[in-house]
Amino acid sequence: MNRVGNKVCIVTGAALGIGNACARRLAEEGARLALFDLDDQTGTALAAELQATGAEARYWHVDVSSERAVQGAIDAVAAHFGAVHVLVNNAGIAGANKPTHEISEEEWDRVQAINVKGVFFCTKHAIPHLRKAQGGSIINLSSIYGLVGAADLPPYHASKGAVTLMTKTDALFYASDRIRVNSVHPGFIWTPLVDAHLRASGATDIDAARREVDQLHPLGHMGEPDDIAWGVVYLASDESKFVTGSELLIDGGYTAR
Ligand code: NAD
Repeated sequence: MNRVGNKVCIVTGAALGIGNACARRLAEEGARLALFDLDDQTGTALAAELQATGAEARYWHVDVSSERAVQGAIDAVAAHFGAVHVLVNNAGIAGANKPTHEISEEEWDRVQAINVKGVFFCTKHAIPHLRKAQGGSIINLSSIYGLVGAADLPPYHASKGAVTLMTKTDALFYASDRIRVNSVHPGFIWTPLVDAHLRASGATDIDAARREVDQLHPLGHMGEPDDIAWGVVYLASDESKFVTGSELLIDGGYTAR
C-alpha cells in the first residue's frame, strides 16, 4: 500500500510505544521517516530495521523540550529529504503521580516542557517547511485525559488539555496554508509509559493491574500501539484532506459514557 507515498514524516518519541508503531506503519505505507528521540540505541536500530525493509528512514537525537535542538533537527530533516510534509507530535511523559497540593513546581514544569512546549517548538519550526511544501499535516498526541478528567497525574492531564486546544488554534491559523492540524486521543495503550505508570502507582502484580485498567474500557481491554498508528496514518494521508481541528478518539469506548 502507498497511503502516504513519498511524504516526509517526522515522528517525535519514535523509539518506543506509540511513536514506534507510527513509524513502522507510516513506513509500510510509503513514507520517508525522520525519527526523533532521546533513546539513541533503540532509535538507531529502528531506522536500520526500516531501511532493511526498503524504506527511507533516519534517526536524529532530539530533546523536544529544547527549542535549539528541535529547530536544528527539523532544518536538517528538510535538508536531508528535501521537504517536510507531516509532523507527528508524539513524544510525551506521564510525570509525577500525586495530588495537586503535593506537586512541586519542578515536577509540574518538567511535564509541560516536554508535553506542551515540545509540541509548540516542533510545530513552530515545522510550519515554514510545511508552507514551503504548500501544505501538510500535523498530528498531536493528546489523550482521553485531554478531554475528560481523572484523579491522578495532574500535570499530565493539564498538558493534554493544552494540546487539545493548541491543535484547534493551529488548525485555524494555518488552514489557509493547507496545513491541517488534528489531535489523537488514545485510551490506555499498552506501552512502556503505561507499564511504568502502573508500577509507579504501586502495582505489585502487574498482570492484575493491567486487567483492572482493561475494564475501564467498554470494549474490555486496553489498546495496542497499532490501534493509534492506523489513525495517525489516516490523518497523515490525503484520505483526511477535509479533516482539520478534529479530535480522533481511539479509546475502546472509554469516553462514550
Ligand atoms: P512511551 O513512554 O512508551 O514512549 C515515549 C517515547 O518518547 C520514548 O521513546 C521516549 O524516549 C520518547 N521521549 C520522552 N521524552 C522525550 C523528549 N524530551 N524528547 C524526545 N523524545 C522523548 O510513551 P507512549 O505510551 O508511546 O506515549 C506516546 C504519546 O501518546 C505520549 O504523548 C502520551 O502522552 C500519549 N498517550 C499515551 C497513552 C498510553 O496509554 N500509552 C494514552 C494516551 C496518550
